[in-house]
Amino acid sequence: MANTLFDKIWDSHVVKSIEDGPSVLYIDKHFIHEVTSPQAFKGIENRGLKVFRPKQVVATADHNVPTVDQHLPIKDELSRLQVQQLIENCAKHDIELYGLGHSFQGIVHVIGPELGITQPGLTIVCGDSHTSTHGAFGAIAFGIGTSEVEMVFASQCVLQTKPKAMRINIEGDLNKGVVSKDIILYIIAKISASGATGYFVEYAGSAIRALSMEARMTICNMSIEMGARGGMIAPDDITFEYMKGREFAPKGAEWDKKMIEWKQLFSDDDAVFDLEININAADIEPMITYGTNPGLGIGIRESIPVTDRIPDEGERKNIIKSLQYMGLNSGAPLLGMPVQHIFIGSCTNSRIEDLRLVADVIKGKRKSDNVQVMIVPGSQQVAAQVKAEGLDKIFEAAGFEVRQAGCSACLGMNEDKIPAGEYCISTSNRNFEGRQGAGARTLLASPLTAAAAALTGVVTDVREML
Ligand code: SF4
Repeated sequence: MANTLFDKIWDSHVVKSIEDGPSVLYIDKHFIHEVTSPQAFKGIENRGLKVFRPKQVVATADHNVPTVDQHLPIKDELSRLQVQQLIENCAKHDIELYGLGHSFQGIVHVIGPELGITQPGLTIVCGDSHTSTHGAFGAIAFGIGTSEVEMVFASQCVLQTKPKAMRINIEGDLNKGVVSKDIILYIIAKISASGATGYFVEYAGSAIRALSMEARMTICNMSIEMGARGGMIAPDDITFEYMKGREFAPKGAEWDKKMIEWKQLFSDDDAVFDLEININAADIEPMITYGTNPGLGIGIRESIPVTDRIPDEGERKNIIKSLQYMGLNSGAPLLGMPVQHIFIGSCTNSRIEDLRLVADVIKGKRKSDNVQVMIVPGSQQVAAQVKAEGLDKIFEAAGFEVRQAGCSACLGMNEDKIPAGEYCISTSNRNFEGRQGAGARTLLASPLTAAAAALTGVVTDVREML
């Protein structure tokens, strides 16, 4: 029988199924961080349990960490306590922790792949929505809630209902100045922030196959922003090349054995999907969002929709509310609009390739005096690579603030926040009200678009600079 990639991995991990109900799914890797794990640890301890398979759990501190002076005690009390709690829980339960000061520390969805922990064919969970990132390696990876984190601690399994299968095919060559962030913002704008609810999405087609692993991670990362349970891409030579030699990737004979398994991880030619969507890569231009969900995006040269012309009442009301929060007008263009902040970072776009893209645009230039620019590597390893390649010098010469690894201004949970009422072009994944700080106004875009705006201080079409 023909199977999808998703079916192949899912079926090989089902421990038990309830007819017409959920399955008990075995979990290969469980990532944890300081925000969603404390209650789960407390939960199992209250039941007199220990973590069942601690060697399959990997921890890091990312959400609450400061991105300057990381060697000092964390000033914010809540953040300090959460990070401390993680240290204590990991020590008590014999879990590997890449905490502050460790050379492997970083955003959980950046470190898993870069350390070779994320591998094709695995089931991977984390108490964090953007766990979908790891699907770029041909894994089933999805975010879970705190009670499910507790379930995985206790049993290394999670109860899950099998989602429906969607495939999004993107064929053809990308236009100049268009990168993977634009692809995913385009898809979400097309199908809406709820358009993939109930589905697990496989991305396929020549435009996807041509992408690097880092670009693929950006796409899978934002699957959750269209309501999907997760996103995945079949592993290929680009995947294997990326993984080879990484810290925890298989080595020697084990690598050869795994390669035989991994090469079976694709959707069969006649596999049937519940829904297929076809996109022409040439239709995609640099994208930017104007609203308060990632589906409210437009091409950089387009105008915000005229709200009076939106037929669906619910959608119209939602966009009007979004525009009020954003301080933007129906039908207005975004191009040329002044912004005050640029944030380059987050698990969507903080990998070395993202930072190289930025450096290429800004090399030898100086940022606009009207913007503050924060550039935050996703991990200590990315930060080290930035230095090794001399990118830090380029960023500093341009007037960018180069920070230390962490989630930073992706969410207002640490010291890096955008002031109320000010605009930030952000390479992160969420533009919800207050996401980057109370009252902050977020415009999601690619690292290229963010770099262009850093130089001009206004929303800019990067194609003019390339
Ligand atoms: S960078 Fe943002 S989206 Fe990613 S894990 Fe951190 S807070 Fe979540």
